[in-house]
Amino acid sequence: MPRIHCPRCHRPESRCLCALIPSLPSRTRVLILQHPSEVNHALNTARLAVLGLANAELVVGEVFDDALLQQPGYRTCLLFPGDDAQPLVAGLSSQPMLLVVPDGTWRKARKMLHLNPTLAALPRVTLDGAPPSRYRLRKAPGPGALSTIEAITHALEILEAPASFQPLLAPFDALIQGQIAAMGEDVYRRNHTQ
Ligand SMILES: [Zn+2]
Repeated sequence: MPRIHCPRCHRPESRCLCALIPSLPSRTRVLILQHPSEVNHALNTARLAVLGLANAELVVGEVFDDALLQQPGYRTCLLFPGDDAQPLVAGLSSQPMLLVVPDGTWRKARKMLHLNPTLAALPRVTLDGAPPSRYRLRKAPGPGALSTIEAITHALEILEAPASFQPLLAPFDALIQGQIAAMGEDVYRRNHTQ
């Protein structure tokens, strides 16, 4: 019998996380570029991040329209390491940031950059002093080995200090708590025995 999934958070209905998902405002706009291989992953934290932020968007693909990267009123930065990457600092600029976050394995993210020269040419920012990931299930899932939702939370707390974005992590924490049972044995094995 097929399981019924919540149309919003995509979790099985019995484990719907929507009640835990906030709707947080932010000056920073977050744009997640998600590799198609992440879409159906059991731990799609990018989706939870976008649902929890009022000023955020998720676009799935490998090749992206450059217009996405130039949004009126925002200066665009890419959260990804690079030789000229600058550590994120509290927002001193009068212009808010459009923070572009690739969502995929390192390999997939690098491929996305390769396929999108405009994306690869954006000024890059990185997270300094990020707390250790609470994400114990996947290997090196995102920038600085944080899950995507953790990386975004940390980035927003730097940019918009002293605002707290911890409520964004509530559905993620619940997801981790229910980890193995909720994911099923096959997914657990896939993540642990590569
Ligand atoms: Zn739901």
